[in-house]
Amino acid sequence: MASNSQVKSVNQIHFTKEHDMIRKSVADFVKKEINPNIDEWEEAGATPLKELFKKMGDLGFLGIRYDPKYGGQGLDYWYETVFLEELGRIRGLGLAIAISVQTNMATPAIDEFGSEYLKDKYLRGAIAGDLVGAIAVTEPAAGSDVSALQSTARRDGSSYVLNGSKMFITNGTQADFYTLLARTSDEPGYHAFSLFVVPADLQGVHVSRKLEKIGVWCSDTAELFFDDVRIPAENLIGQEGEGFIYQMRQFQHERFSLLPPIYTAAREIIDMTVDYLKERVVFGKPLIKKQALQHQLVDWITEVECLKHLSYEIVRIKMAGLDASREISMGKLYAGRIFNSMVAGCLRMHGGMGFMKEMPISRYYRDSIGLGIGGGADEVMKDVIAKLEGF
Ligand SMILES: Cc1cc2nc3c(=O)[nH]c(=O)nc-3n(C[C@H](O)[C@H](O)[C@H](O)COP(=O)(O)OP(=O)(O)OC[C@H]3O[C@@H](n4cnc5c(N)ncnc54)[C@H](O)[C@@H]3O)c2cc1C
Repeated sequence: MASNSQVKSVNQIHFTKEHDMIRKSVADFVKKEINPNIDEWEEAGATPLKELFKKMGDLGFLGIRYDPKYGGQGLDYWYETVFLEELGRIRGLGLAIAISVQTNMATPAIDEFGSEYLKDKYLRGAIAGDLVGAIAVTEPAAGSDVSALQSTARRDGSSYVLNGSKMFITNGTQADFYTLLARTSDEPGYHAFSLFVVPADLQGVHVSRKLEKIGVWCSDTAELFFDDVRIPAENLIGQEGEGFIYQMRQFQHERFSLLPPIYTAAREIIDMTVDYLKERVVFGKPLIKKQALQHQLVDWITEVECLKHLSYEIVRIKMAGLDASREISMGKLYAGRIFNSMVAGCLRMHGGMGFMKEMPISRYYRDSIGLGIGGGADEVMKDVIAKLEGF
């Protein structure tokens, strides 16, 4: 499409040749190592993460922003954005999310608040791709309301004894460690929680179930059960009682990481749909000639551009060292909303073929449904924004 060359030249405002080099190497990796296998991983209900993350770790992809002391690249948020944008070209959103669990959900708190020991062991391992990480916050009775969580970690000598369960944990069946939030005090308020690195091979850690989902099949999701698990006290991240605050900060990395893959995938889906409409002849003309469809496509392209530029504004805010929670919450809310309706509309433009499992659009449709739920539901994002607006 002509517009793509325009998009490329506008991108030069934000990105340099150095960014383009990283972009190209991630794009090549997705094209050669991921997309040829993604159908198989979707059908299998999981991606072999240990093998894949090792390859990604060797190429430096899993530590773009992290300290070179632990094997990271020491680059900034623009480079991270380039990496995340290229994850959007994976033909299964589940895997883009599984990868960002490793880079943006299970490790930022270790990087920001973890001890030298935790960084050297777990951050280094995650960056190298030697360890698979997962983030374990949600519980059967605590999702949107994180403070309702019931898992307890009681101090006992040189350990914390963990009991409870966690629900919907991405990478949960394959993880080597869980970055896990548990209650360490019965006192009311937000200082009753602590964040831990829980090695998956500790006695009493159980994967109770691999959950069957209606979308993101290439990403495995687990229910976990913890029965008198003795977590070494050195696996506490930062200070006891500060875990809730650390996790709220970690959520900002998580939510931002969803945006670049979504606007990249959205643009790919629109382009794919345009290609289909050019080929498909109805009432004697290619469908793309119908003004009603052109206008709808233009609406979606406009929304995708808005999401991209809100994301770039978030990067600028973060680069300035300021808090971007308000804009990130807006981005998360907007991304899920536009992606859902755009994918459903593109599926409809494919007619009966769109309803067929063999068509990539039907996978994107399944994958899009959970976006307004996971990582903070739309209503929770609205609550955050309302609070920051001072309502
Ligand atoms: C595929 C998938 C992967 C996930 N991966 C992980 C993971 O790796 N780690 C992890 O910890 N969690 C994970 N989650 C959990 C996810 O973060 C939660 O599902 C989400 O936070 C919502 O919590 P809940 O499911 O308990 O819904 P509930 O809290 O029961 O909420 C149900 C619905 O109520 C509405 N609602 C909630 N709050 C409000 C409000 N304040 N005002 C109005 N309406 C409201 C929303 O529409 C919401 O969807 C994952 C979820 C999915 C679906």
